Amino acid sequence: MTTTEPPRIPRNIPDWHTDGLCQLFPELDWIEAQGEQAVACRAICSACPVRLACALGSLERGEPWGIWGGLDRADRKTVAAEYGYPVPAMLPEHGTNARRVKHGCTCPDCKHAHALYEAERRAKARAKARARGLGWPPAHILAAPVRIGRHLLAPGQYLLPLPDLPEHRRAAPVDQPLAA
Ligand code: SF4
Ligand SMILES: [Zn+2]
Repeated sequence: MTTTEPPRIPRNIPDWHTDGLCQLFPELDWIEAQGEQAVACRAICSACPVRLACALGSLERGEPWGIWGGLDRADRKTVAAEYGYPVPAMLPEHGTNARRVKHGCTCPDCKHAHALYEAERRAKARAKARARGLGWPPAHILAAPVRIGRHLLAPGQYLLPLPDLPEHRRAAPVDQPLAA
């Protein structure tokens, strides 16, 4: 499996973090290691000088991600049940908005799910605003260049009419044609 997400480290980086052997193996997928990758990760952890601190930290956080101190999520769940640590959180699936927003996944599926979620959310907000009579007037698409202050807007750009703007801030058509 290829790495699709950067390793997520605790918000407050612990002192031992810089001594972790995993930093020497960025090519391994420490987040969702499977098969041979998981075996390799565990082998590296077994020789790591900060293994205990790493494993305990992940247990205390209820870490949902990856291999820490040689323990994967299933291992942490078992240890947590026996020793009273918080149950490791479940990660939302890839291809969900929650995975993108709460866990920062940048894989194409999660990005796509987030884009869909945002489009739906905006459409609902617009519909709600329209129902309350608060909708924006429709945007103009510029047929000719227009100057607003120091900004020159090219033809084809959208411009929202803002009726409450003072006269001197209003868009003014530009006399000369735009340079090619
Ligand atoms: S125990 Fe494993 S995951 Fe933890 S710092 Fe060491 S090599 Fe990295
Ligand atoms: Zn994802």
